Order: sequence, then C-alpha cells, then structure tokens
Amino acid sequence: MEKDEKKKKRDFKETWYYLKKTYPYAKKDKKYLFFFFLGCIVLCAIQIVAPIFTARQIIELTNEAWQQLFWVTLAILGIEVLRNFVRKVNNFFINRFFYSVRKNIQLEVARETLKLTTETLNTHSSGVFIERISNDTSVIAEIFMNIIDYVTYIISAIGVLVSISFLNMTLFLLYVGFLIILFVTKAYAQKVLKKKRRLEREKSEVASGFVSEMVRGAKDIKILNAETSFLSKANDIVNDLNQASYDYTKTRRNFVFWNGNIRDLLDFFIILCGIYFLVSGQLEVATMIVIFNYRNNILAISDFLEGFLELIQRYTLAAERIFEVIDSPKFPKEVFGSKQVKKLEGHIKFQNVSFQYDDSQEVLNDVSFEIKPNETVSFVGKSGAGKSTIFNLIAGLYHVNQGSIYLDGIPVEELSKESLRGNLSIISQNPYIFNMSIRENLTIIKHDLTEEEMVLACKRARLHDFIMTLKDGYDTIVGESGVTLSGGQRQRLAIARALIQKTEIILFDEATSALDNETQAEIQQSIHNMQGEYTILIIAHRLSTVINSDRLILIDQGKVKGIGTHQELLEHNAIYKKLYELELSDEEKSKQE
Ligand code: ADP
Repeated sequence: MEKDEKKKKRDFKETWYYLKKTYPYAKKDKKYLFFFFLGCIVLCAIQIVAPIFTARQIIELTNEAWQQLFWVTLAILGIEVLRNFVRKVNNFFINRFFYSVRKNIQLEVARETLKLTTETLNTHSSGVFIERISNDTSVIAEIFMNIIDYVTYIISAIGVLVSISFLNMTLFLLYVGFLIILFVTKAYAQKVLKKKRRLEREKSEVASGFVSEMVRGAKDIKILNAETSFLSKANDIVNDLNQASYDYTKTRRNFVFWNGNIRDLLDFFIILCGIYFLVSGQLEVATMIVIFNYRNNILAISDFLEGFLELIQRYTLAAERIFEVIDSPKFPKEVFGSKQVKKLEGHIKFQNVSFQYDDSQEVLNDVSFEIKPNETVSFVGKSGAGKSTIFNLIAGLYHVNQGSIYLDGIPVEELSKESLRGNLSIISQNPYIFNMSIRENLTIIKHDLTEEEMVLACKRARLHDFIMTLKDGYDTIVGESGVTLSGGQRQRLAIARALIQKTEIILFDEATSALDNETQAEIQQSIHNMQGEYTILIIAHRLSTVINSDRLILIDQGKVKGIGTHQELLEHNAIYKKLYELELSDEEKSKQE
C-alpha cells in the first residue's frame, strides 16, 4: 500500500513534470487561455449562485404565485442563455488555442524526428513516428483546453461544498467523504487503465507502421502476388490492436459500472440522511432545497473527477511518448561538430578506418585511401563488400569505430551539420522523390531557384528533353516516391537536385537494376557532364561503367585490395581481373539467352 502511494505521488509528479515541459508550446497563445479562464470563472459563479437564487424564489412564493413564477422562470432562462453564450465564446477561444498548440508540438516532433540517427530510424517502424505526430500531439494539446475546464469545475465544487458547510456541517462532511471514496476508487481504476492504454498505443503504432508500409509497397505486393499473405498479416495485426482496444474499453466499462453503483449508493445514503435531518427538525425545507439543487453539481463533480483522472492519464502517456522523440536518450539524435566551412574543396581521406554497424561482424577493416578535389573515383567489389558503408560514413550517417575520416583535412565529426551536409549530396540507387511536381522537387532544395538554373541543371542531368515531352512539363506531379518516373529518370532527377545544391562532393550509388543501355548511357553522360568540376565518388555495380573514372578502389570483404585505373588493375590485380572476367562472361551469357 505504501509502495502504491509512493507510486501514485510519482504519477502526479510525472504529470506536473510534463506539463512544465509542454507549457512553452502553449505560451505564445496564452491570451486565448486567459479569456477562456475568465469565461470559466463566470460559469463557476453561475454554478454556485443559481441554486441559491432558485431556492430563495421558490420559498418566497406568495399568493401572487403565478406572476412571481413567471419572473423566476424568466430569470432562470436568462441565466441559461448567459451560460450558453459564455460557453460559446469560450469554445471559440479554446479552439483557436488548441489548433495552435497542436501545430507547435507537431512541428517540433517532426523537426526532432528529422534529427534522429539513421540507426534509430532504421530500427523503428514508421508507425512509431506517425502515431506520435498525428495522435499523441492532439492529446497533449487537449490537456490545456480541458484542464481549465476541470479546474473551474473543481473551483465550483469547492464553492458548492463551502456553501453546504454553511448550511449543514454533517451533510458537508458526508459529501466530503463521498468525494474522497470516489476519488480513491477512480484513481485506482485509472492506474489499471494506464497500463492497458499504453499497450493499446503500442499496438496502434505497429498497425499504422504496417499500413503505411503496405500502401508504399502496394505495387511490389501485387507483383509478388503476395496480397493474401499481406492481408493475413494485416488481419493478425488489426486483431491484436482490436484485442488491446477491447481489453481497455471492457476494463473501463467495468470500472464505470462499479464506480457508478458506488456513487449511486453513497448518494442514496446521503439523501436518506437529509430526509432524517428534515424529519427530525435539524434542517429547514429551504436549506434542504438548496442542498438538493447542489446535489446535481456534486454528482457531476464525481463524473468530472473520472474525466479529470482519465485526462491526466492520457496526457501523461502521450507526453511520455512525445518527449521520448523530442529529448530522450531512447531516440538518439545525430551529433555534429562546430567547425563551420562554407565551401569544402572536396579532399577526402580515410585513415585506418574500421567500422561495424552493431555488435556483429566488422564491415570495414583498416581502410585507408585519399581522393583529391575534382577527382572521379569508383568503388568496385562484390555485393556486401562495404562500398555503401563507406558512403554512409562520409555522409556522417554513422561514425567510425576506429581510425579517422577527413574532409579537407578536418575530421568529419568536427564539422557542423551545415558544413557537412551542405557540401555533399548522395544519389542513391533508388532516390526518394517527393509526391510533388518536378519543379517543386527542385525548389524544395533551393527556394530562390530561377527558371534558367532549373533548366540548366536538368539539361546537364540529361532530363530536360524528357520533361519537355510531358504534358505539364516541369509542373508534372510525379506521384508518391516518384512512381510515375522510371528508375533512370528518378536518378537523373536526383542528379539535377545535386547540381542545384552545388555541393562539392557527389556520392553516386549506381543502380544495380538492369537499366536499359540507353538509360545507362544517359546517366553516364550526365555524370560525365559533371566530371572535373566536382569530387565524384561512384559505387559501380557494373565495371563497364567505370572505365571513365580517374581511379578505381577495389573493396573486398571490408578491405582495400587495390587502387588504380581500370587498365592498371586489370594488369596487376588478380581479384579485379577475376571480377571483370566474371562480369564479361555474365554479359555473354545474358546475350546468348
Ligand atoms: P556493398 O555496398 O558493398 O554492397 P554494404 O556496405 O551495403 O555493401 O554492406 C556491407 C555489410 O554491412 C553487409 O554485410 C551488410 O549486410 C551490412 N550492413 C549494411 N547496412 C547495414 C545496417 N544498416 N545495419 C547492419 N548491417 C548492415
């Protein structure tokens, strides 16, 4: 029991802790909150004064009862109209406040999500972030809107209780006892419900992650003819979520049922006491009427108590989940240095670099090489040799375990985010193209992009002629992930993006997919257009495409096994020679087929 008490205290402390953390997002709009609070005070006053007014009028009914009744009814109507009006104005203020606070928090979670380390993003389903950005932020914003509502109800409850204490001390004590018993039972219910709700939120994350994956992968699911198994998995996941939701709702309904019964029993008991006091002459009729009028308020308070505790529980859970993304070590953020370099020259040096992704095998082992500014260097080697890992390390997506990587002589981890990311671009095998027009996909990189700059970049990326064949030209919407573009076109659009970014270093992961020769030639041509002006690193999946590179670096099982031109390696390096011959014979075979 003592342990439970301590825990409960901790629960409230936790809520207070998160409220303090949430407040900065609401600070800007606190004027709305202030007006709302004023409205709530007026509502409170009506709540306390109206029953006294009604009772007094009823008691003072004289012979001219009809006339008096008319005025009393009119006054009650007036009070109700006033109450509704204040509520309407209050709703306006609180809605403005709610949407603004929710937006502030949503933007913050989105901003922080973009700072997460690649590893964190890789190891969590997208549902984790979608759910938190869309659902939990609403719950958080609701707290301010509801808490004031509840606080005013609590103030009016105290007002009502104080009024009762003046009227009859025994009934006052009974009502206080009544509220304490209800509070304890409801607090216990919320404690049980919190666990169930947390489980439900987790299941919900899994479900939305799966759904988003299913929608994004719909095309592949159809091609793989895997609809049935995907739907069956969806069925399991949704069942799981439904079970957790059902469990929460069922437990909640049970608590509502039992708490309702306890409430009604206590209420019945207090009424009995009231009748006893009336009959035994300890209470006057008028006082009894006032207390009876207040009774509705007390019963409402008991319901509000339930809502209040549930709100706190929902809020704490949502805040816990939101602040996990914003500032907890559970979701680590990328760390950058403070060295500012506006324009890197493009000198890259790996010095005895070793790296492993997790506790598994070492992926790079004592790798050293140097690339001069404006050189074009291709990395070759079998799949899984560690080529993409080299790119990931240069881009600061992961950090080395041993050794150092220098850009223009500065260790990568010492560069600021702008200096590093602003000076290099990665063109991946399957670049992510946003569901916007081609123009917007390019202006998102540079807001003040001129028409000439855009067309020039697309011409150099060998994409302009294709864009001109589209009905809407540069304003053509390319669909989610650029689905309406071919693999080669997506890569060329990414090249145009890199050209617009004007980064000194371009990391290019050549597509493995069998692009047709013409597309391949176009891409080769667009890279060729950049050669000599930029430092270009290419992961070459086909050796036939690297002949034009200044140098090749051969990676085998995480080690550098040769550096030189295509011709040099072919003559002096057995591994490269074998790799080259293997590719030739593969090409030969596919030609024969
Ligand atoms: P390549 O580009 O030469 O095909 P990679 O650098 O992609 O090779 O992969 C090298 C090794 O690292 C592979 O064994 C691969 O399974 C592993 N690997 C790649 N990415 C990750 C990751 N994010 N987490 C754990 N292991 C990874």
